[in-house]
Parts: sequence; C-alpha cells; structure tokens
Amino acid sequence: WNEWVENLKVYEPGRPITEVARELGFDDVEDFLKLASNENELGPSPKAVEAIRNQAAGVYRYPDGGCFYLKRKLAAKLDLTPEHLLFGNGSNELIVFLGHVFLGPGLNLVTGECAFAVYRLVAALYRAGVVAAPMPDLTYDLDALLEAVTPDTRLVAVCNPNNPTGTAVGQEDLDRFIERLPGHCLAVFDEAYIEMMPEDRRPDLMRYVREGRENVLVLRTFSKAYGLAGLRIGYAAAAPAVIGLLNRVRQPFNVNVLAQAAAEAALDDDAHVERTRTLAAEGCRTVAAALAELGCETVPSVANFMLVRVGDGGKVFEQLQRRRIIVRPMGAYGLPDYVRVTVGTPEQNERLIEAFREISE
Ligand code: PMP
Repeated sequence: WNEWVENLKVYEPGRPITEVARELGFDDVEDFLKLASNENELGPSPKAVEAIRNQAAGVYRYPDGGCFYLKRKLAAKLDLTPEHLLFGNGSNELIVFLGHVFLGPGLNLVTGECAFAVYRLVAALYRAGVVAAPMPDLTYDLDALLEAVTPDTRLVAVCNPNNPTGTAVGQEDLDRFIERLPGHCLAVFDEAYIEMMPEDRRPDLMRYVREGRENVLVLRTFSKAYGLAGLRIGYAAAAPAVIGLLNRVRQPFNVNVLAQAAAEAALDDDAHVERTRTLAAEGCRTVAAALAELGCETVPSVANFMLVRVGDGGKVFEQLQRRRIIVRPMGAYGLPDYVRVTVGTPEQNERLIEAFREISE
C-alpha cells in the first residue's frame, strides 16, 4: 500500500439528496431542498438542453478532447486565441493538472486560509506543502499572500469570488498583486463564480492573458452561472506555453461530447446568465435581510451563496437537514460557527428563511 495516499483526506462534497434522505429514514426525496453546492437553481439554459438532445445519438463516438469548436467559440468571445485555452472535466480537473505540472515534494502552494478546499487536496496529492495566508474579514489579503511566498512556491491561488466566503477582491488590488508577484510563481485566479458578480465590480484578468503575461492563469467553469455542474466542464485561460504544459498531462478524452455541445450552446445565451446573476444578487439581499431580523449575521457575498453565522454550524446543519434542507457546515474550513447556504429561487429562499425562523424560536 501507498502510505502517502492512505493518509490523504477524501473530499466531502455537498451530499446527494438520496443519500441524506436514506440516512434520515425518509422514504421519499420529493420535497428535499439542496442548497449545499452553489448550483444554479434556474438550471441550464434551454439552448444547452436542446444541444444535449441533439447530440445524444452521437455519444457512441469518443469526444474531441481538444474541444476544437468550443475552443474557437470561447476564444472569440474572450478575445483570445484557441491556444490560450484548455478544457477540463470540471475546473477541478484543471486544478489537478496544475498540481501535476507545477507542484511536487519540497515545493508549495500559497493560498488563503479559507480558500476553496480542492487546492489543499491537490497540493497534498502531489506531496507539496500549503502555506495558508490569513484572511482577515474572510477576504483575501493579497499582501499577506505575497508575504507567504517562499523560494519554493510555485502556485499562488486566489479564488475570486472565494468559496466559501463569497467575498471578492477588486481590480486595483489585483493589478498591484500581479505586478509584485515573484517570477517563480504562477498566479491562479479561480473565477468559478465571476459571472455572478455585478458587472461594474467584476475585475478583468483576461487582459493579462491577452497581453501575454506568462505568470497569470484564469480558471472558470460551466458548473455555476451556466448551470451545467452535472456535465463537468471548465476551462483554463493562460499563455500558450503554460496551456501547452497542462495539455501534456490531460487524458485524451477528458471532456465528454454532451458537455462540449451544451457549453457551446450556453455561450449563446447571455440572457440566461444575466437572469442567474440577478437571481443570485436578489436572493442574497433577501436572505441576508430576513436572517438579520432573526439575529443571524451573514457575510456580504457577490456570489450565489453566503456564510451565515449561527453559533453552532454543525447543529444548525442538522436542524435544517431534519427539515429537508441541505446546506454546508463549515467546520472543515475552520469556520465552525457558520453554515454556507446557496441562494435559489424566491420560493426556495423563502423556505430556507422559514426553516431558520423555526430553528431560532
Ligand atoms: N473553484 C471554486 C472556487 C469552486 O467553488 C468550485 C466548485 N465548488 C470549483 C472550482 C470546481 O468547479 P467544477 O469542477 O464544477 O468546475
């Protein structure tokens, strides 16, 4: 047995409704509400659903892992070239590629102390260290990240907006950070939730990729605003030299036929993304205001989820679960007094608020 692998932690995702229902002894899963994985409760664009249907009979063929058509379309949309892009089986797979290419024993990855958990897991997978910089106010402190960099640092990961905190850093701070980043590090900006941000607050980091900056990589996904989490597709945008390295560790058929077709169609439906953004922003406002009335503090979020300070996160998680609502306890992120809730449709949000009301009584 491989002892290193035996000691790796298994990532625990927001659990499927069926599993939770079975454990709690419920016979049916009918009215369960899962607000645990920051999915898009509007679902995918109807254009994407239609594209999946149209492609269904083509699944007997292997996909083009190079995603030729999708790459061409996305490159045009982002004003990049196809050589700037690489697709993965979810952006999670691209984080694994980053570990494979840039990390190893004796090297480290720098990130914030409550950054998205997969970065730590991937560093551990490749036997590299993690230096976690403090996140005062639950927001990335970019100066602290730079201070944490050592000669052995190869990756500095900034999730913007961050999961699980929902907070984001702005353009000016990011520009200064990129200017000051030492040459031996690649900055990874994980923009999984970027489309949820109000347009006027959304930083433009693709500009650095376009300008040929070699130490900036942007990660995005079709799992969140595009509502395609179940198909697993995300992408990296970076200098062609960096993309070339990542492409060397990619398995030939990593992105499936249906995912590629759906993503291409989804790129044609900006209105769906706009509806998603509005739903998230309004949802956050409504839920935060209602919970404030109940005496629960929330962390202001620019994404489709937020942290709620509840005292005992584990207990509230269970109390909500008994009311058939699944959220995420945050103990694993060092935030035991919080739960993270995804905001959904107005009806779903109302049900969540009502459950909090019952618990608080
Ligand atoms: N980055 C962040 C910050 C995330 O929150 C997530 C999903 N929870 C991912 C990456 C991975 O998303 P996916 O693999 O579905 O593209």
